Amino acid sequence: MTVRKVLKYGDPKLREKAKEVHKVSKKIKDLVQDMLETMYTNNGVGLAAPQIGESYRIFVIDTTTNKEPLHPIVFINPKIIKLSGSQIEQEGCLSFPEVFFDVKRYKDVTVKALDINGRPFIIEAKDGTLQSRAIQHEFDHLEGILFVDHCVNRFEADEILAKYNLPPVDPEKIITGEVCED
Ligand code: ZN
Repeated sequence: MTVRKVLKYGDPKLREKAKEVHKVSKKIKDLVQDMLETMYTNNGVGLAAPQIGESYRIFVIDTTTNKEPLHPIVFINPKIIKLSGSQIEQEGCLSFPEVFFDVKRYKDVTVKALDINGRPFIIEAKDGTLQSRAIQHEFDHLEGILFVDHCVNRFEADEILAKYNLPPVDPEKIITGEVCED
């Protein structure tokens, strides 16, 4: 297992749409181990393959608050099958070190994916839990979408990004009107 370098906001690779995994091979399993190692080392709750420069539709999360025992969940070729509700919460991202701001998300998400053994599973994450937000956040990475694109206040986000020497919000990428009001 290797701790990999996490790409920072501004790297064009973070804007690419990731490729489907055709076979959960040894190479893919090794990549997943690197992703877990990288996520835990950086104290993240989630990491998507494009964040370490690997264009695959894979992400990992561990939203348990205690350090031990670990509860990693691996999503390979995930498909969002249901979204509902809306919420605004603070979010961060390992590709935006130390940056946090308000982001609008759905409250509930149902996702279908393959596990590390290539077996299909479904997770229903409800009520705006950290797990629900993490799934939506990490899934976005596979589409080249970043949490800045969901920011509630673009000007506030720009101020925070500038403070950490990161590029500003890209107005062309902002997602509006997608999350319905309660
Ligand atoms: Zn992220």
